[in-house]
Amino acid sequence: MKEFDIVIGLEVHAEVNTNSKVFCSCKNSFGAEPNTNCCPVCIALPGALPVLNKKAVEYTIKAGLCFGCQINDLAVFERKNYFYPDLSKAYQISQLVKPICLGGGIKLENGKVARLNRIHLEEDAGKLIHKNQTIGTLVDYNRGGIPLMEIVTEPDFSSSAEVLEFLEKLRRTLIYAGVANCKMEQGGMRCDVNLSVKEKGSNILGTRTEMKNLNSFKMVKRAIEYESNRQIEEIKAGNKIVQQTRKWDDNKGKSFAMRSKENSNDYRYFPDPDLLTVEIEKNDVENIRKTIPALAQDRIKIYTEKFGLPEYDAKILTNEKFVSDYFENCLAIKNEPKQISNWIMTDVLKVLKEKPCEDLNEIITKENLTTIIELLETKQISRPNSKALFELVCFDTKNAKQVAKENGMLNTFSDKELENVVQKVLKEFDSAMSDYEKTPEKVVKFFIGKVMQLSKGLANPQIAERLIIEKINK
Ligand code: ADP
Ligand code: MG
Ligand code: ZN
Repeated sequence: MKEFDIVIGLEVHAEVNTNSKVFCSCKNSFGAEPNTNCCPVCIALPGALPVLNKKAVEYTIKAGLCFGCQINDLAVFERKNYFYPDLSKAYQISQLVKPICLGGGIKLENGKVARLNRIHLEEDAGKLIHKNQTIGTLVDYNRGGIPLMEIVTEPDFSSSAEVLEFLEKLRRTLIYAGVANCKMEQGGMRCDVNLSVKEKGSNILGTRTEMKNLNSFKMVKRAIEYESNRQIEEIKAGNKIVQQTRKWDDNKGKSFAMRSKENSNDYRYFPDPDLLTVEIEKNDVENIRKTIPALAQDRIKIYTEKFGLPEYDAKILTNEKFVSDYFENCLAIKNEPKQISNWIMTDVLKVLKEKPCEDLNEIITKENLTTIIELLETKQISRPNSKALFELVCFDTKNAKQVAKENGMLNTFSDKELENVVQKVLKEFDSAMSDYEKTPEKVVKFFIGKVMQLSKGLANPQIAERLIIEKINK
């Protein structure tokens, strides 16, 4: 029985997070009325000329720097010619011989480095919307001309697990760097999987197929598993793998041949005469490097070393940038990293799992979460009541303290009761007073402890301390 190795290389497309499109000033946004973010340039009216968006180049360089790429000093835009209705010009402006970034890589948990081949900048195509038989297919050019980074890897992956880990790290870094939103459900990040199999240990690569536009991690996983099995079965049956582009059908759980795979010379690439060669100066690259914010791994370091959180917690908190941002925003209100982290990890993320959103403030405002922590800390609320209060202010912006009051959740340990308890404690343990001259602080602490004990933790320790000292001084 022959054994096989799986070989995978990825082409990942991520829409760049600019305000406007890459060669015109139309809005780069999702969800607008079809064909409303369009102009002569991005629908290719004759004579319209592209003007390069500098920000898109900067963001691509920034992404490259995050992955340790080498930044080319010259970048050239080329026309990739193909005729398809989602492409208004019948060519896509892309890059072939001189992309913006070369090399780089992402380290995986198993120690392997998944190498990048390149990152280039191109324009996105429009979107075809397949209606019914009478209407036919419609096209929306809003997406046409949105800047798209294409990140191409070397064929370095040997399992779907490695691919998924890579994609998660890639996505996270692009989001933290602020260069792409990677909203997969909106097509903001798409992945083509190139896959071949070879005899175990052999260093000759097999013929690959390419599966296009997988737009969720789950689809990537299923497609890899299906396609590697299909190829192994074909080879075992004595058949040859045909180099082709295949379309993954997630409903059927199968991929289908779309077309025989074209080579780059089929596209008749040539430098776009409407665009100048871009000169990228070292100095500019260094200035862009300075704008890279703290990435997930940097935040993990701060959370563990500065805030003393366990690494496991720090990893969960930084997994999604919006969770980490929320954590830090809470921290700015109340400097209690451990408490805030615990509440997020146990309570907030549980709700998030049931009701996904992109800003944890929708679940509970940072003000309310920190208020609950404050109420607990000052013993104004019991632990069970704090959990109930959390539920009450979930998906609500009402003031947590107000809600607690209205629902009788605050401890009603009146000043009078406190005074009585203090009186009682001082009387009952007056023998402790003999040490007061020597160690006054110790004695006061002892009395506070007794007050807390007698009040079942309901007394406010600061007020108790003030009262005790007052009474002793009398
Ligand atoms: P294109 O798809 O445009 O022809 P390339 O030839 O550069 O571009 O390859 C694209 C992707 O295919 C890269 O991610 C590369 O790692 C991957 N790849 C190339 N050869 C193989 C192979 N034999 N098996 C699996 N992946 C491969
Ligand atoms: Mg390809
Ligand atoms: Zn436009």
